Amino acid sequence: MPSFTFKPIGHIHSCFKEKFGIPRQPGLVREATAILEMAPEFSTMEAFRGLTEFSHIWLLFVFHGTSGQGWKPTVRPPRLGGNVRVGVFASRSPFRPNAIGQSVLELIEVQSVKGRIQLLLGGIDLLDGTPVLDIKPYLPYVDAISEAENGYAPSRPETRWPVYFTSESEQSCRQAELDLYPGLKALITNLLSLDPRPRYRDDKTPQNYGMRLWDLNIKFRLRDGKIEVTSIRTIPNENCRISNKE
Ligand code: SAM
Repeated sequence: MPSFTFKPIGHIHSCFKEKFGIPRQPGLVREATAILEMAPEFSTMEAFRGLTEFSHIWLLFVFHGTSGQGWKPTVRPPRLGGNVRVGVFASRSPFRPNAIGQSVLELIEVQSVKGRIQLLLGGIDLLDGTPVLDIKPYLPYVDAISEAENGYAPSRPETRWPVYFTSESEQSCRQAELDLYPGLKALITNLLSLDPRPRYRDDKTPQNYGMRLWDLNIKFRLRDGKIEVTSIRTIPNENCRISNKE
């Protein structure tokens, strides 16, 4: 059976420098935005003519962060608590025979920045650096099937925990918003409310977690049925966000 070679048409610049904390599906955290920077040979505005008439696009991409880790016929979806196995083809797991992902994302803006086409996307579930294979317009009349059966994923994951900031983290968040990351507090709040902790953890033993966003380390823990953001620190010598402005 012949195999095929595909090359990325562009790459994602996102706040998610590691997998921990990335929403498990697109559209769950609208404030999670990213820039898709097209490769030079595809940076021609002609190729995007008419795309901005669509509010959402399909992105086909490579799960590059785990592509070398192989696959198994069954996986344990977090939605089922992380201990029930289903077939890999009955899941959206990154660990698949061909590490191809697909996400429907909000298309916020298409622009040319220093000769490269950049798409500003909202509601992402993509690791920084994700190679993109294709872009297609989302067509609700074919893609949104209201009577479709949902299997074991009947609805959006319920928002789990209220999120609050200690005064120290509140202050550092405000400063980070002024410096480089407007909207940071809403992003952190909505990401953590989805409870990114591993599904098998227990809710009794208070444990500290760290989530990376751009060059920030966000420390948090579960306490009295709430997620408490305890600190927001800049990680020295880490690259921060790229701007989608000239
Ligand atoms: N919506 C896509 C799909 O259905 O194919 C992705 C679903 S998958 C469950 C989403 C998770 O993939 C994210 O929470 C993150 O942990 C992981 N992920 C995102 N980008 C990745 C990348 N480039 N390499 C490896 N894993 C990635």
